[in-house]
Amino acid sequence: MSLKLYNSLSSKKEIFKSISDKRVKTYGCGPTVYNHLHIGNYRTFVFYDLLNRVLQMNGYETETAVNITDIDDKIIDRVNHEKLSLKEITSKYESSFIELSESLKILPNSYNPKATDYVELMISHIQDLLNEDFAYVSNESVYFSVDKDQSYERFVNLKKDDMDFSDVNPDKKFIGDFVLWKSWTEKDGNIFWDSPWGKGRPAWHTECAVMIKDLFNGQIDIHCGGVDLKFPHHENECAQVEVLCKNFLSNYWLHAEHLTMDDIKMSKSLGNVINVSSLIEDYGYDVVRLFLLSAHYRTKVSFSQKKLEECKKMTEKINRFAKNFTSDIKSIDLKFSNEHDLFIDALNDDLNTPEAIGIFFSFISEMNKKIAKNSINDSDKEKSLVFLKLFNSIFDILDFGNLHNHKIPKEVQDLLVSRQESREKQDWKLSDSIRDKIESLGWYVEDTASGQKLLKKK
Ligand SMILES: [Zn+2]
Repeated sequence: MSLKLYNSLSSKKEIFKSISDKRVKTYGCGPTVYNHLHIGNYRTFVFYDLLNRVLQMNGYETETAVNITDIDDKIIDRVNHEKLSLKEITSKYESSFIELSESLKILPNSYNPKATDYVELMISHIQDLLNEDFAYVSNESVYFSVDKDQSYERFVNLKKDDMDFSDVNPDKKFIGDFVLWKSWTEKDGNIFWDSPWGKGRPAWHTECAVMIKDLFNGQIDIHCGGVDLKFPHHENECAQVEVLCKNFLSNYWLHAEHLTMDDIKMSKSLGNVINVSSLIEDYGYDVVRLFLLSAHYRTKVSFSQKKLEECKKMTEKINRFAKNFTSDIKSIDLKFSNEHDLFIDALNDDLNTPEAIGIFFSFISEMNKKIAKNSINDSDKEKSLVFLKLFNSIFDILDFGNLHNHKIPKEVQDLLVSRQESREKQDWKLSDSIRDKIESLGWYVEDTASGQKLLKKK
């Protein structure tokens, strides 16, 4: 099946066609670096990574950008409260973002552009919009005039007539106009840049538009972000680029749903956030990553310990299965058969990870039955190795290098002998309690047709 993606522009699944044959350009809206990011933020970033890996699975080279917003009201608030410089605050949280992304096996992006490196280009972009009469200066700020964009309302119907004018910014000509450049106010302190319109700073919508223009010449294949960015942020990015470049900013727009906490969106302002590093410490990166990928990206997911525990059992099962094979999985050629095609089709069907995981687990169960009966043949072994490698190319939760790198401690070896004796005497109760003891020491025992088999927990 060719790759299909749900495009927010058409609200339909569409067959993906890249602009150039082999190379796909993607852009995802990135973090605002003023605090530690929570697990809900990482659901979006792991989704970007999933898209990148599925594109690569389909033979595309990818060129990816995720921006870092290091100019923002919330950052300025922290600068004012903590008496630290903007750079001191943003570089700390930028490093934390990069480190945690690495911990969660998110492939590095081709670019992580920062707003502070783009101020000059943002000023000339705003000047271009003014020159073309798509923007106006008011009280030293600059606004985009949405009426000048014939295609405005790509993502939502704004019903301009129903708009509430009670809280209107008097500097705007129309309530729907959005700010491109914010003039300096006292609370900005010493954070400002000089511009032809006075001192101030660029606005968030300007940032992504200018980065896409600079990095990708104003045209990409896929733009992604969290669902709450659809409007106004993505609409406003599109408006600026499309009126100037006279082309579609992006052919496909993908939006990921939220991670919720008791049915409420997880967000710092609501205080219902879960810290990522402590979650990785408690469960391991593999469990957290599998949890984030276990639901379809377009469905809301409620955070729960129960789901994490389920994912923990799933990762253990996959590790146990992988340990049956002694070959070096990394060197296996990816030759696909029917079972693999089903898995690939599920991912190509708008990145349907829950279905792909289900297909992989059915395969594991089938093979485990054969392993228990000692009836697994060479073809099964090869298919299993290919599947493990294919699965990991997307989910990346197995550490192939460490699968067999374990010395069995003497205590465990002795327990295994005692368990064998108890089984010969048909003392199942004792046999089970020895199994528990072995498990508590970090090893699984499996009873197969050829006797007990020991597997190291991950
Ligand atoms: Zn953006």
